Amino acid sequence: MSRLRRFRNVVRIGPVRVGTANDNRGREKHTAACTAPRCGFSTEYDTRSAAELAARTHRCPIT
Ligand SMILES: [Zn+2]
Repeated sequence: MSRLRRFRNVVRIGPVRVGTANDNRGREKHTAACTAPRCGFSTEYDTRSAAELAARTHRCPIT
């Protein structure tokens, strides 16, 4: 589980949610996180396009 943050521009791509938030140093981070139970996929990226690409190409092991 990632820490609770204020995500903005949240979109859903398949089972994966992509949101933008600032880390504790004020930099933008783009997180792709799968909503499927027991999947656990959650990764931060420096760019929005990288996060959305990861969401699009995520192969969920659960479904
Ligand atoms: Zn998944």
